[in-house]
Amino acid sequence: KETIVWRQADSSKVYMADLESALHYTLRVEVAKFPVLDGDKLTALKKYVHVLAKFFPARPFVKNLLLAMDSWLQNVTENQISYSDFENVLNNRGSGLEAVLMANTTWVWCQGSEPQFRGFPCSLWTLFHVLTAQSVRSDGRPVQDEDAVDILGAMRSYVKNFFGCEECAKHFEGMASKSMGNVSTQDEAIEWLWDRHNKVNARLAGEKSEDPRFPKLQWPTPDLCPLCQREKDGELYWDVSEVRHYLKAHYGKENIVNDYLE
Ligand code: FAD
Repeated sequence: KETIVWRQADSSKVYMADLESALHYTLRVEVAKFPVLDGDKLTALKKYVHVLAKFFPARPFVKNLLLAMDSWLQNVTENQISYSDFENVLNNRGSGLEAVLMANTTWVWCQGSEPQFRGFPCSLWTLFHVLTAQSVRSDGRPVQDEDAVDILGAMRSYVKNFFGCEECAKHFEGMASKSMGNVSTQDEAIEWLWDRHNKVNARLAGEKSEDPRFPKLQWPTPDLCPLCQREKDGELYWDVSEVRHYLKAHYGKENIVNDYLE
């Protein structure tokens, strides 16, 4: 049996190692399953990399890489590309810029108590919560409401075209097709993703995919955000404006830590 090196993690922090691991896994594992990228897949990849370049609060050399990948993809005029051409850009062959992406995954908050638990799906949720919650774009300008709509759209098309868990993708697309179109502001985008993620948590609670060490709860739990849930006539309800405030702080740039990164 594989021995697990346990990484201490604080539930109130967001770990850059999880986020960069999500970048590695999406771009080098999931997208790599398609030797030729065309049609919806090429569009989905372009959108995904574009929102990463614009909104991911990256370390400087990761930001260089995202910008290089985005401008390469935006300049593609053919209606298909090969994964290996994309991979050359991803691996930064010959640009001379200091731009690298980690070569493997290092799960920290997303580490499961057994290898089959958590990991990538946890990091994909985390990545998109982070993207929707930023107040400043990577070029320093303030995030606009349209930006948040683009971020959700990029998540939707990534999940539909590349997410390896097909059942998950189907469920997510079901939720997206019902209500994602009603989202028009950043606050609504933050709230939509939080609410749908909690619906998924509720559906999966007690299933065999649940890591016993990380039970599926409605989030944020009172220990993380005491003001997010309130009680009226014996009933608990969410104070949505507190929840939004908490999500912006929790998934904001200032709360992302670089522990366990080289
Ligand atoms: P996750 O649910 O992955 O959450 C990661 C972290 O995000 C949590 O630890 C917590 O810190 C935080 N968090 C939790 N809830 C919220 C919230 N509401 N808002 C903001 N932050 C929150 N698995 C299935 O078996 N069936 C499915 O249909 C399915 N659909 C999925 C659809 C998508 C789009 C994704 C990304 C994953 C899906 N999964 C599905 C996987 C599943 O949701 C979990 O990601 C996986 O089981 C790992 O769970 P986890 O305990 O690490 O927490």
